[in-house]
Amino acid sequence: MKFCSDCGATVGLNIPEGDNRPRYICTRCDMIHYQNPKIVAGCIPVYDNRILLCKRAIEPRYGYWTLPAGFMENGESCEEGAARETEEEACAQVENLRLYTLFSLPHIDQVHLFYLADMTTEHFAPGSESLMTQLLPEAEIPWDELAFPTIGRTLRYYFADRQAGHFPVRSEALLRPVRAN
Ligand code: ZN
Repeated sequence: MKFCSDCGATVGLNIPEGDNRPRYICTRCDMIHYQNPKIVAGCIPVYDNRILLCKRAIEPRYGYWTLPAGFMENGESCEEGAARETEEEACAQVENLRLYTLFSLPHIDQVHLFYLADMTTEHFAPGSESLMTQLLPEAEIPWDELAFPTIGRTLRYYFADRQAGHFPVRSEALLRPVRAN
């Protein structure tokens, strides 16, 4: 960042007293601007053994397939964010959200988390950020056209765990860019 969001003066990068890493500090009002990871919350919406995927109508990864997910808004819970994104991107209602995968992505300062979720009805449709939405069985998942690594990993865990009959929470760190599928 270049300017203080509080007073508009320039900021400098310095280690505050008592801290151990550089922070942006306002040269006029001394406000310390902490920067922390952003959280992306999404769902694995399930209906009748099929998974709801969205074809992205926005960059990055325009035209690639994703689970409905997006940046959390202030004032909402992770579950609310995941359900909201599912409604916005796929016009689908979900219930019974269970935390399933959690990814730390330190190279892009993000955390991604996905909830297993039951669709309340078979209704879905593309929202404004989607070109197309589809309920797909495992055999029709477009593995080579997935938008992000956390989507591919979540789907692979899901189909393996479904075979095994239980869905333990999966938590892992992706320490550098990896393949999307
Ligand atoms: Zn300032």
